[in-house]
Amino acid sequence: MIETILLNFLFLLFPVIIALVFFEDKLTSLNKYLIVVLSAVTLVLCMAFPIKLDLGFIIDLRFIPFIIIALFGGYKMVFPLYLVLNGYRFIIGGEGTYQSLIFSTVIFILVPLLSKKFSQQSSRGRILYALFAGVFTTSLYYFALGFNYQKLTSEFWLLTFSSFVVNIIAIFIIMSLIEKIITNVKTREIYLRSERLNDISDLSASIAHEIRNPLTVTSGFLQLLKGSKTISPDEKTYIEFSLQELERAEKIVSDFLTFSKPQCANMVYSDFKKEIEYVENIMKPYAKMNQVEIQVSFTNTLKKSYDENQIQQCFINLFKNGIEAMKENGGGSLYVDVSEQKDHIAIVIKDSGIGMTSEEISQLGKPYYSTKKEGTGLGMLMIYSTIRNVKGDIKVESIVGKGTTFLITIPV
Ligand code: ADP
Ligand code: MG
Repeated sequence: MIETILLNFLFLLFPVIIALVFFEDKLTSLNKYLIVVLSAVTLVLCMAFPIKLDLGFIIDLRFIPFIIIALFGGYKMVFPLYLVLNGYRFIIGGEGTYQSLIFSTVIFILVPLLSKKFSQQSSRGRILYALFAGVFTTSLYYFALGFNYQKLTSEFWLLTFSSFVVNIIAIFIIMSLIEKIITNVKTREIYLRSERLNDISDLSASIAHEIRNPLTVTSGFLQLLKGSKTISPDEKTYIEFSLQELERAEKIVSDFLTFSKPQCANMVYSDFKKEIEYVENIMKPYAKMNQVEIQVSFTNTLKKSYDENQIQQCFINLFKNGIEAMKENGGGSLYVDVSEQKDHIAIVIKDSGIGMTSEEISQLGKPYYSTKKEGTGLGMLMIYSTIRNVKGDIKVESIVGKGTTFLITIPV
């Protein structure tokens, strides 16, 4: 019996290992369906090689892939498994086919209901949810079986108990593996992102410093020249233009400098209200030009210490991206909400623009990654670096064609 249990466990590991080896770095929708197919294979194998007990009872682990896919993928992804399970059950035939159909239908309807809550949980929460779904399914199964069974002998209870234990242990191990894989992928992504930021901030800070000096010297000499009495008014205006342009160049250099460590000169201790209002005002004309309306709601009272210029620039970039995403959809509304939640400030920026695929989301923050014709691909980099400087976190939710929501949480 132990051998069959181990064999069944191997079946369960099969999709997990394939996913780990082949699709760990990118889970595209195609790969998601491949995982469903692999899970279907597991399910069939579990049914084909059940664990046989003395009394002629059998235990199988078919509901484990079923539950896990139902929790991660909801109705849409578990439906093929539901078909496969019942299709194969009909091929096997024999007693209990209809009971199995009814039972699997109940599970098919109930378990995916948890899916949404499940996806909002932490790693540990998801494991608990899966265990709960497992306990529920197995209990329901033996409850139904108990009804069909006239005499509830001690053997029946022993069987129930052992099946229970096998199922729960198997779910626990498989879910722990899956969650560990997910955590590893996430950690690596965070690490890569901060590596990139480090590289670019070192580079840009040194270049910006180098360029700033000649700019200052040149503008100093031009100032002197402007004061000269021997130059004509025409020449004076040329010098003014040159000075203006130099000033602009200096601004651009300063923007680059914001990639690097926070500068104490601009540090403030505040609640983001002033910065949001400022950015709303300066972005209004640009929004209007693209038929976008900006709607801000501000309820935050928590304060935080941050670099004012950096935060302004970060909001400008976020607003600009939102507006640009809606520009292609013929306009819309950009919702901005700043609120407080216990010990952190929550900033939500929501547009109804073109949206992104999950692959595109994972590219965000890479230097020079842009899908726009005249994009710089530096906006998101600056946003990530700024939020990192205030120890905050950015979540991106996006649906292609529907829009994007940036959720920024900043601990105080
Ligand atoms: P740029 O705006 O110059 O292209 P960013 O770094 O600001 O560079 O943005 C990088 C890319 O991220 C954009 O080209 C776009 O594809 C994507 N992006 C950013 N914000 C959004 C958004 N709100 N909606 C859709 N796509 C976005
Ligand atoms: Mg941008």
